[in-house]
Amino acid sequence: MGALEEAGAAPRGRLAGKNAIVTGAAGGIGLETSILFAKEGANVLMADISGPALDKALAKLKQLVPNAGRAASWVCDVSKEAQVQAMVESLDSWGGVDVMFNNAGIMHARDDDAIGTPEEIWDLTQNINVKGVWFGSKHAVLSLRRHKKAKGSIINTASVVALVGSATPQLAYTASKGAVLAMTRELAVVHAREGYRFNSLCPAPLNTPLLQDWLGDDVAKRARREIHFPSGRFGEAVEQAHAVVFLASDESSFVNGHDMVVDGAMTKAYVTPE
Ligand code: NAD
Repeated sequence: MGALEEAGAAPRGRLAGKNAIVTGAAGGIGLETSILFAKEGANVLMADISGPALDKALAKLKQLVPNAGRAASWVCDVSKEAQVQAMVESLDSWGGVDVMFNNAGIMHARDDDAIGTPEEIWDLTQNINVKGVWFGSKHAVLSLRRHKKAKGSIINTASVVALVGSATPQLAYTASKGAVLAMTRELAVVHAREGYRFNSLCPAPLNTPLLQDWLGDDVAKRARREIHFPSGRFGEAVEQAHAVVFLASDESSFVNGHDMVVDGAMTKAYVTPE
């Protein structure tokens, strides 16, 4: 029997007893982060727009972390405020939110350059990637206040394309991630005296379905991107998740308004090793 299963045992770990919501939790970064959060003692609400994928993801978490605290799932489209509000308020019964990871995002196949991007794809991308992060941040703050919490950590997923321009354009996506960085910085400053921290995560291209499905078997398309990594490889979702655990935990208590770039030095490289 694990320590957490003993009656009355206090949860252990770097996030012991914290209530966390992870959006986009059915795959990639969100799933790996949910698993690490649970391993570190957090109660985790996994949220995603895809119910079937979410069921599988929750089952995986429970299998990998059998002594997890509370773990539950919630189907939510983050671009719809009423759904985000209901999701966050569902955690009132757990004692309110301590950690909010606004991670859900899309990069649409029809996203292109200034000429080729359809307006509806622009709007869809901003609605999910930007408004979704706003709604998540807003309702996290309202929950923290409602439960009179002295501290809280909100982490918003941006991207390295918010920092460096890409000649393989996805203009709506890039603009959306720039907005996430700017919004997160301002939220960090506005709410600092309440003890609520806001940080951005800027992942480089990863081995997750979001990018890999899009690259498919196109070797040239893949090589065009891999060449920019000094390490010669894409990142793994779990490498992002470890950074998110740090930002969620009290270990990062003086880290606020930070753009946490987890990119294997991709944004620092001019010429990469042969
Ligand atoms: P992923 O596609 O594996 O996961 C994204 C999840 O978000 C999916 O489970 C999807 O169902 C969910 N989702 C989509 N629209 C939603 C909505 N409206 N409401 C709720 N959930 C929704 O991708 P990932 O790589 O893990 O991406 C996570 C985040 O990381 C995204 O914000 C993405 O833009 C960002 N990111 C990814 C990469 C990469 O290379 N994979 C690089 C930089 C940034």
